[in-house]
Amino acid sequence: MMRFTGRAVYKGIVLGPVTVWEARDEQVRRRKITDPKAEIQAVEKAGIEAKEQLQRLYEKALKEVGESNAAIFEVHQMMLEDEDYLESIHSMIRTEMVNASFAVAVTGDNFAEMFAGMDDAYMQARAADIKDISDRLIRILEGEDEADHASEGPSIIVADDLSPSDTIQMDKEKILGFVTVHGSTNSHTAILARMMNIPALIGVPLDLDEIRTGMMAVVDGFEGSVTFDPDEELCAQAKERMKKEQEKRRLLEDMKGKESVTADGKRIHLYANIASVSDVGYALENDAEGIGLFRSEFLYIGRDALPTEEEQFQAYKQVAQMMAGKKVIIRTLDIGADKQADYLDLGKEENPALGYRAIRICLKQPEIFKTQLRALLRATMFGNISIMYPMITATEEVRQIFRIFDEVQKELKAKGIPYKTPEQGIMIETPAAVMISDELAELVDFFSIGTNDLTQYTLAVDRQNAKLDDFYDPHHRAILKMIQMTAENAHAHGKWVGICGELGADLALTEEFTRMGIDELSVAPSMVLKVRRAIIDTHRPTASCAQKQG
Ligand code: PEP
Ligand code: MG
Repeated sequence: MMRFTGRAVYKGIVLGPVTVWEARDEQVRRRKITDPKAEIQAVEKAGIEAKEQLQRLYEKALKEVGESNAAIFEVHQMMLEDEDYLESIHSMIRTEMVNASFAVAVTGDNFAEMFAGMDDAYMQARAADIKDISDRLIRILEGEDEADHASEGPSIIVADDLSPSDTIQMDKEKILGFVTVHGSTNSHTAILARMMNIPALIGVPLDLDEIRTGMMAVVDGFEGSVTFDPDEELCAQAKERMKKEQEKRRLLEDMKGKESVTADGKRIHLYANIASVSDVGYALENDAEGIGLFRSEFLYIGRDALPTEEEQFQAYKQVAQMMAGKKVIIRTLDIGADKQADYLDLGKEENPALGYRAIRICLKQPEIFKTQLRALLRATMFGNISIMYPMITATEEVRQIFRIFDEVQKELKAKGIPYKTPEQGIMIETPAAVMISDELAELVDFFSIGTNDLTQYTLAVDRQNAKLDDFYDPHHRAILKMIQMTAENAHAHGKWVGICGELGADLALTEEFTRMGIDELSVAPSMVLKVRRAIIDTHRPTASCAQKQG
């Protein structure tokens, strides 16, 4: 047995096989070739090898998880014979004289994008399969070892570090837990782990060379430990504790369908935070009353180019439709700092958290912003969408946003494209926004307090810097006073105020938030039912001015 400890970002326990995650070396390199015939032959040979690998996987899965779960490997084998797919690869090699791996990568991306844009949910799901088979071909072409990358069944991901784009690209159905050598508890990867309800440890001082894909491990998010090659006794204990956790979760089921109302009658709107369309499932499963924060920037990362208006429209429309009339607050692009997209060429900055990010990019590059606003407005026809702007520091920024918003509205009107005017709010996540929240409240429909960034900027603690985790204290009185001040200023202008940062899910503060008059809490889907129970158990002896939320 090998045991290590680290910092837990989500409490939970799991026993399962390990996948050592190695981030693919940037992108597949494009090389000029002189012999297209040889490259095409290499693709054909790789196709045969890939089908053999898949057949082995099919047989293994058939024994271990049954026919219906094994069928996917048959589907992948068939996809590898798809004529359009193969012809597209061959023709790219011939016409552009590029290497086989590059042609497979580009074709895979194109086909995946095409599937993802289809209306039919089954076809959309095929996008991931196309990526999968293309990755398999590339690994074979590049002479990489199959086992190193195998995450065929559900497994615990062990990595040096994971960027938000790594995590967003993983098939969440296949992740049992995360263990990383680096990373900070306030990073977006940690946020994703909490959203997915899976045990996750960061800052684990292990030597990745000693860990092999396929090893068993127990991740214990309660005590912050991971044990590789556990003995029988530990496996039995882990299984027992997993059962107990399941039982606890079952008890929380009683909270489903209940209203989030305090004992003295204050109704809190309890929403969920999501990062992608597929996360809506987690929100609904946990009975969220709406989406309080859709981090739209995840549509922009882990890819090679900006998402088109149509792609974005489809994503927003789907979320709105799936939420069936419940509120869906979509935050506009909050990229920069830890969330990077190479194609945007944002450049290296000394202090990226204080740099060119979020609304600053949108205001400086209004074409990017306008594309998103057009997609958002078009999607308003399909549900109850609100728009929220991140990283606001000044009233002039809001005025500028509204000027751009007006231009987009006019363009849509001129073209006869229908939309409904959405509620528009801002995130309060900089000390500047808190201090002028009285002025900002006059301009917008609502506030949502981003305590993650508000803590970082107020306490001058980089939320990405693991060394500073002990200094990152969202309970600091400065933060609580700022939340109170923001709530008072919102209410004085008849606007509602919510919290969508991680602190919103802090059960030790639920009562205090209701006392401050917070109208909405938007939390990780896995926390919705726990927060509802805390709200129901809460008395508010001194109610502050309650507000109605539209
Ligand atoms: C926040 O800063 O609290 C927030 C919700 O936004 P993000 O974590 O995406 O920066
Ligand atoms: Mg933020």
